[in-house]
Amino acid sequence: MDVNMDVNKEEMLWEKCAAFHGHVCGGLAIGFKASLYALELLCAGRAEDEELVCVSENDACGVDAVQVLTGCTAGKGNLLFHMTGKQAFNFYERKSGRSFRLILRPYQSSSREESFRHLRYSDYHDLFDVMPTKIELPEMARIFQSVVCDGCGEKTAENHIHLENGKKLCPDCFQRYDRPLLL
Ligand SMILES: [Zn+2]
Ligand SMILES: [Zn+2]
Repeated sequence: MDVNMDVNKEEMLWEKCAAFHGHVCGGLAIGFKASLYALELLCAGRAEDEELVCVSENDACGVDAVQVLTGCTAGKGNLLFHMTGKQAFNFYERKSGRSFRLILRPYQSSSREESFRHLRYSDYHDLFDVMPTKIELPEMARIFQSVVCDGCGEKTAENHIHLENGKKLCPDCFQRYDRPLLL
């Protein structure tokens, strides 16, 4: 992505993120700027499939901008979480093996408005530190067989099945099965 992206293009992308997220906020701006920075560093552009992976260290507003801009989405399995509660995003490019971690630099602000302006309008190079990733690149999303739960009769992916007395149970039935002793 062009380093000197023109203001109109950036504004257009911001509108897209805001529409997806439902409101405009500082958290969204963090994910927005982190994604623009990531796309610049990766040079490969937005992910159509699983070639790009994001491991986010929080599940806050910014994650929605990451999904819109980078194409790392919950549904494709290339958006994952490693919850440290930090405003940090790890990106991995499978082909090149390149990876980096963007972490928001600490800043001082006296109000929400000032904080928002800082996050939304600063140059993203000044907002984040670029560091090596600490977590290994996760494996590709696997496709699992479906298994019918012996409790409720509903189908679920086999990696979610629990065995109890030889019965194959989904997570909901396994919990119910576990509780009668408490009654
Ligand atoms: Zn928000
Ligand atoms: Zn069940």
